[in-house]
Amino acid sequence: MEGLLVIISGPSGSGKGTVVKQLDADKGYARSISVTTRAPRVGEEHGRDYFFHTPDEFARMRQENELLEHALFVGNFYGTPRKYVEEQISRGRMVVLEIEVQGALQVREKFPDAVLVFLMPPTLSELQRRLTKRATEDAVTIDARLKRALEEVPLINEYDYLVINDVVAHAVEKIDAIVAAERLRPHRCKHEITQFTI
Ligand code: 5GP
Repeated sequence: MEGLLVIISGPSGSGKGTVVKQLDADKGYARSISVTTRAPRVGEEHGRDYFFHTPDEFARMRQENELLEHALFVGNFYGTPRKYVEEQISRGRMVVLEIEVQGALQVREKFPDAVLVFLMPPTLSELQRRLTKRATEDAVTIDARLKRALEEVPLINEYDYLVINDVVAHAVEKIDAIVAAERLRPHRCKHEITQFTI
C-alpha cells in the first residue's frame, strides 16, 4: 500500500501532542519531528520533542529547501524537515505531522493527497484550563496562544475531518479509523485494482 500523509492541527491546548505521540507509539505511525526556534520547555528533549535550532540555522534550512513547510507562530518559527517525511512516505508508512494551520495549508498545496484533521478540545473553558495548566508559559504567552487558537477555529472548514479530543484514547481511535477508511479510497488502491484491469 502507498504511504499517507496525515496532518493534525488544532489550537494549543487541544492535546495534539499527546494524540500524535500515541499514534506513533500504539498505532505505528511515523511521527515527524519539527524544527523550532522556540526555547525548550522543561522536560522537552532535542531530537525527541523538537529539533531546537537558532534562527540562523532555521533560516539556512529554509533557504536550502530542507523544510516541507514553515510558519511563524506566536513569535517563533516552526518547520517540518522534508527528508524524513519523503523517505517514510516512499516506504509506505503513515506519516503524521502535528502542525498549525498555515503550515497545514502549505502542505495541502504540495501534497493534495494529504488528509487534514482538526483536533478540538470539547469546550472553550476546557481549552483555557489546558492552556493555563501548562505551567511552563507566562500569562502573556498563554493569552497570545488563546487568541491565536480562536483565530484558527474558522479555518476548520479547510480540513477534511474534525475530531473532538474529550478522551485521548477515543481521539486516537477516531483518527486511526479515518486513516483506515482513507487508505481504502480507490485512488489509493491502484495496485489492488491493476490486476483486474483488462
Ligand atoms: P508549541 O510551541 O506549543 O510546541 O507549538 C506551537 C504550535 O506550532 C502548535 O500549534 C504546533 O502544532 C505548531 N507546530 C509544531 N511544529 C510545527 C511545524 O513543523 N510546522 C508548523 N507549521 N507548525 C508547527
